[in-house]
Amino acid sequence: AEVGDYRILHEAALRDHFAGIPDLKALIGGEPAAWGITEVGDGNLNLVFIVKGTRGGVAVKQALPYVRLVGESWPLPLSRAHYEYLALSKQAQLAPGLVPVLLHHNETLALTVMELLEPHIIMRKGMVAATQYPGFVDDITTFMARTLFFTSDLALSAAEKKQGIAAFAGNHALCKITEDLIFTDPYRIAEQNRWTAPYLDGLAAELRDDMELHVAISRLKLKFMASPEALLHGDLHTGSIMVTESQTRVIDPEFAFYGPMGFDVGAVLANLLMAHFASAGHERMPGERQAFESWVLETVEKVWSEFARKFLDLWRAGATGDAYPVTLFAGERGAARLEAERQAYMQRLFADTVGFAAAKTIRRIFGLAHNIDFELIEDPKKRAISEARAVRLARAMMVETGEFGTIADITGAARKLR
Ligand code: ADP
Ligand code: MG
Ligand code: MG
Ligand code: MG
Repeated sequence: AEVGDYRILHEAALRDHFAGIPDLKALIGGEPAAWGITEVGDGNLNLVFIVKGTRGGVAVKQALPYVRLVGESWPLPLSRAHYEYLALSKQAQLAPGLVPVLLHHNETLALTVMELLEPHIIMRKGMVAATQYPGFVDDITTFMARTLFFTSDLALSAAEKKQGIAAFAGNHALCKITEDLIFTDPYRIAEQNRWTAPYLDGLAAELRDDMELHVAISRLKLKFMASPEALLHGDLHTGSIMVTESQTRVIDPEFAFYGPMGFDVGAVLANLLMAHFASAGHERMPGERQAFESWVLETVEKVWSEFARKFLDLWRAGATGDAYPVTLFAGERGAARLEAERQAYMQRLFADTVGFAAAKTIRRIFGLAHNIDFELIEDPKKRAISEARAVRLARAMMVETGEFGTIADITGAARKLR
């Protein structure tokens, strides 16, 4: 099929299209004319429909040739649907049960059909309502440890690894969005920036004038651009995670590419920390969200410690890659030295994670795309107080990364700021 065959499938066209795919038709069940079709997309980039019949339902995601949030004036390649499909397939293989089941993909239409996640909700929404997710730590750390480890040089041969990089190298337009919106715009005057004015006007001006911060964010940008350590999800915030109290599913990997591992881990930590800082703004009675806030900070600590533990266990048991050749670490002395080096590796990864978490926080408060954690705080003054606390911690994490040697240093600082 030709690229020119692409068309946006709204309700009627979607119905006709699926009516012609026997497997999908059977899965949905009943007469296509009676199917319920609703657009549920609340993301920034794509269309998402839910199609329901007598037997079940599916979720359908179609890429638009432009950024949904902004409109046709900001074109974006349809190929992102290809990379999302590729990443989702890889994640399903490496972290089974933690992503929606893939049901159908049409390259020409930039369309993917997947398992309907129900009654799952977007985790960020649940956290605004102060819901705790007891299974989250175990699920998200398994997802990250396995997807990152098994696509890294610790697990792959050099040839396999380079083939992986090549397969995702074409997703550079999505990377460029991150490079601009996360690593550049919040620190300069940019048309798309916004913040809680007038309360944060002063802080916004400070960030634009803070050369130490500009150096730190530029180092992180370079690391993002030039460190293909592993296949990243690339957009692993709490709006890309759907949950019930016992299940976790990671969705929306269209930003996937080979990049620095700390970018994914930092995304999760940043979004938990933002939920923590936003929590005060959602309080109607003093102390009513205390249990939730404690859970969030405990979760921050465990996400790092469990991720590190699982990643190290995979490394100890399955170092089939070309990095750290075992022949260089023979005998008891070699084993001890290699184990010390594994710890040092995790310490470097932690420092990257801290920096990227800070970058992910600042962009949500001064950049284009904000999150409902803060946006749903109606009183702008309260919202600004929560946001300023998050920014104060993020600035320290980015510029004085060395002061945060352990995850407890971060949660300790967050507790003090509340
Ligand atoms: P975007 O790339 O535009 O951000 P997402 O993949 O994040 O799109 O999907 C947008 C929304 O659609 C999600 O926030 C969620 O509410 C809904 N959604 C996406 N995938 C599914 C699914 N498999 N099951 C149920 N709802 C889904
Ligand atoms: Mg999304
Ligand atoms: Mg191998
Ligand atoms: Mg997306």
